[in-house]
Amino acid sequence: MSLILKEIVANPQSAKVYFDAGLGSAAPRHVHTCPDVKGAHTWECNSPYCTSIEELCPDHGGEPPVKVGREPWRR
Ligand SMILES: [Zn+2]
Ligand SMILES: [Zn+2]
Repeated sequence: MSLILKEIVANPQSAKVYFDAGLGSAAPRHVHTCPDVKGAHTWECNSPYCTSIEELCPDHGGEPPVKVGREPWRR
C-alpha cells in the first residue's frame, strides 16, 4: 500500500512506485533502495536534492525527499 509514494503507470523504469517532488511523472527519476526490514524494495523519485540512494522510503518511515519549490532553505 502506498501512502506517499505514487504508483508508476506510464514508462516504468525499475520500480513500481515513485516520489513526486512536484515535477510530474515525466521528469527524470533516479532509483532509491529502501532497506525496510520487512522487505527491501526499490522506489524512484524525481527530487533533484537527494544525496543518498539507500534510505527508507516515505511509506516506511523515511524522510520524504525535498520537493521542488518547497526547499526548506528557501523559506
Ligand atoms: Zn531521490
Ligand atoms: Zn519502503
